Amino acid sequence: MMGRRGWRAMAMSIAVATLVCALAACGRAGTPAPVVTGAPALVSDALHECRHVHRPGRQVLQLPAPDGGWSGHPQAVVVLNALSGEVDIRHGLRDRCGTLEDARTLDSRFRAGVGTVLVPDAGDTAPIEIEYDANPLPLWRPIVQLGEPAPVQRADIGRFAIRIASLAVVLTLVMSALLSFVATRERAFLTYATTVGVFAIWLALLSGLWAWPRPWLPVGSFAVQAMVGLAVALIGVTTLALVRQSWLRRRVPQIERGVRWAARLLVIAGLCAPLLPPIVLAAMSVATEVGFYLLALAFAGVAIVALVRRRGGGPSLLAGLLPFLVVAAMEAFAPTALALWKVEAYMLAGGWLALTCSMVLTLRLGVLRRQRDEMQRLAQTDPLTGLPNRRAALEQLERSIGAAKLADTPLTVAFLDLDHFKRINDRHGHECGDRVLRHVAHALRGAFRSNDHVARMGGEEFLVILPGADPGHARARIETLRTMLSGASVVLDVPGLQVTLSAGISALRPEDAGVDALLQRADTAMYAAKHAGRDRTELEAERPAVVD
Ligand code: GH3
Ligand code: MG
Ligand code: MG
Repeated sequence: MMGRRGWRAMAMSIAVATLVCALAACGRAGTPAPVVTGAPALVSDALHECRHVHRPGRQVLQLPAPDGGWSGHPQAVVVLNALSGEVDIRHGLRDRCGTLEDARTLDSRFRAGVGTVLVPDAGDTAPIEIEYDANPLPLWRPIVQLGEPAPVQRADIGRFAIRIASLAVVLTLVMSALLSFVATRERAFLTYATTVGVFAIWLALLSGLWAWPRPWLPVGSFAVQAMVGLAVALIGVTTLALVRQSWLRRRVPQIERGVRWAARLLVIAGLCAPLLPPIVLAAMSVATEVGFYLLALAFAGVAIVALVRRRGGGPSLLAGLLPFLVVAAMEAFAPTALALWKVEAYMLAGGWLALTCSMVLTLRLGVLRRQRDEMQRLAQTDPLTGLPNRRAALEQLERSIGAAKLADTPLTVAFLDLDHFKRINDRHGHECGDRVLRHVAHALRGAFRSNDHVARMGGEEFLVILPGADPGHARARIETLRTMLSGASVVLDVPGLQVTLSAGISALRPEDAGVDALLQRADTAMYAAKHAGRDRTELEAERPAVVD
């Protein structure tokens, strides 16, 4: 243990070291050299050869010139949510290509999608052409944005910021759950972190962030397959999490078992996604999305039932699902309006659902922990007197012995047994006996210091652990207790009641390895008090003198 001198020396060293560093920095303050990084460019990174043009299955979209031809002003074109293949934006001789994976090489001004700026001649009537791969997932439509460069670029950056922020929130939830797992070892946190981590990867794939600023997920050309596979796996795990959050789990326990099996099957189906032909993949993606909307609707119903019947969990479940219900309604009634912001809507709604699930998890674990603490408290408490029971006393004695040995301080224990308690029961009734035991417990708490530990060892036997006290002090406290108990007849209003006790005291010796020897000596001393006529205190026998 570091003494006060040690702390002072450490503080002085830190102060001196800080002063020396500051002086050294000041000495150099006039000439801070700039930090140069990077290397000279040898080839242009900004141009990208068009490799996919005119491949079978490519679609061409024409953006017609306005009446009277193009104005001669620059035109920004951005293609968002082109989940696979190369996007080719061309007009006249200008032909620019890029994919989500290398979007930065096409035009670094656009970050959320693949974009560029063209300058068609004034009066030119040729349309701007966009060639792209047929959309692999029917419910995820690409968006093409055309307009003046500055506002188009601002909108693109806005989108990018929403995507980055949503992903950051979800990743923060993963980190926080992992830290909670490390701190508490509760498996629920690990399951949550894994599920939300997979969801974060799915969001990165959906938003194209997996390839920004360079591809950092090793999915190669399987990005779409990975997206569909993860979505299928996630829907199973999310359903399981929602069932566990709702009252369904308690009311219909079979549902949880069924959903657990379904979740396993869906995870296996998700893992098989890379092997599936495009048509099956597309169907799987639509089924997953529609299935998820229906699930959200069904669980909203479950949440409303919980709200109406006051079953608990309703508000958080409903709040968590609400954004997805809005997305589902828009998919049904205003799909074009949704398509413009669908990726962002999914990212925000998903982040919100993950956030509410995290809150529910923390609350539920808090309740479980309180229940566990209460059960532990009950298991260590004597119900009649409210004192710690034998088990708690032995654990406490073990701790006190360890602490006394470490700090090299005395430790004394006193073993108390009420005299002729059987007679009290016989004469005044068992109920009176109980009242006497409660009264003794109360007196014990009053007679000893707050850092002494009083416990009921069973029947009419009590143990007092006195850290830092010598046997003389323990004896004095027991005499105080005796005086308090002498008035029991008046306090309990039982004429003729006499409550006395016999006590044995022992002190910790260096050779005491555990609790047994110390307790044994106190018990022997207590029996000696009984044999000597009761209503008295005996110290343990002296240590036998060592004979040379
Ligand atoms: P001694 O002076 O030798 O210790 O005699 P004693 O009668 O106190 O000891 P004995 O061990 O013969 O009897 C203890 C009695 O304590 C017997 C049992 O019925 C009673 N007892 C144990 N637990 C309780 C309890 O929770 N409530 C009541 N009322 N009596 C109890
Ligand atoms: Mg006894
Ligand atoms: Mg007794």
